[in-house]
Amino acid sequence: IHSNPITLKDNPNRKIGVLIIIEDVTEIRKLERLRKDFVANVSHELKTPLTSIKGFIETLKEGAVENKKVRNKFLDIIDIETGRLTALIEDLLMLSEIENKHQMAEMEEIDVNKSVGEVIQILNEIAKSKDIELINNVEENIPKLYGKRTWFKQMLINLIDNGIKYTPAGGKVEVIGYRTNDFVIIKVRDTGIGIEKKHLSRLFERFYRVDKARSRQVGGTGLGLAIVKHIVLSFKGKIDVTSEVNKGTEFKITLPVKKTDK
Ligand code: ADP
Repeated sequence: IHSNPITLKDNPNRKIGVLIIIEDVTEIRKLERLRKDFVANVSHELKTPLTSIKGFIETLKEGAVENKKVRNKFLDIIDIETGRLTALIEDLLMLSEIENKHQMAEMEEIDVNKSVGEVIQILNEIAKSKDIELINNVEENIPKLYGKRTWFKQMLINLIDNGIKYTPAGGKVEVIGYRTNDFVIIKVRDTGIGIEKKHLSRLFERFYRVDKARSRQVGGTGLGLAIVKHIVLSFKGKIDVTSEVNKGTEFKITLPVKKTDK
């Protein structure tokens, strides 16, 4: 029961009924719990690198600063942890921007082939250093998409970057793009470590990681796929994932083609 009963009268002396408002609060409670979990997760994710930074600074101040080798090692760690904090804050800002502006996002024309090419160019250096091949397999005449271009590219960056992170040397990450009926399909497929079935349904949740230690080692914030999902939603599309352990993973994005472009 959401409110106190209200007595209904048709004149000051005559009661004709009682109004009780009953509201289903399960959804509100669920959202409230998600929000609390999110705040707790963010706090934890911020605190971990900060604790480490503080620890190394204290050790330096206590004398470790005198030893050049130790000092440089500690400074490198502080540098890495600061980078982690920056990446986390950037991803949080990105997520909140997409959530807040998603309804009124600008409608820019997007050339899928060109965007994929540009993103591959950005990531090619990291891929090469890990001996991973990036392949652009987007159909020539794929229809234009409409939405925020930077978000579209961010979506590709996050998926391809994950492909690179979770694929051993010698493997490949391929972007496939084509049209079927009223949809543009974009697939990002890798030949990586794969993901066990039991994790797939939770993969797009904020801070959900299959292997925390590994993800930390490869430098993920745990927000990459949550950002991807929100971007896909801003394009009124959907995203699915299929995977086989030790074989690879495929993310499939289905985006509606604008009516006038059919
Ligand atoms: P992270 O920043 O940890 O990579 P994401 O939200 O991008 O966070 O991904 C969530 C988790 O999903 C990762 O920690 C990883 O365990 C798993 N994952 C994402 N992409 C892949 C992939 N291409 N291959 C294997 N595992 C993946």
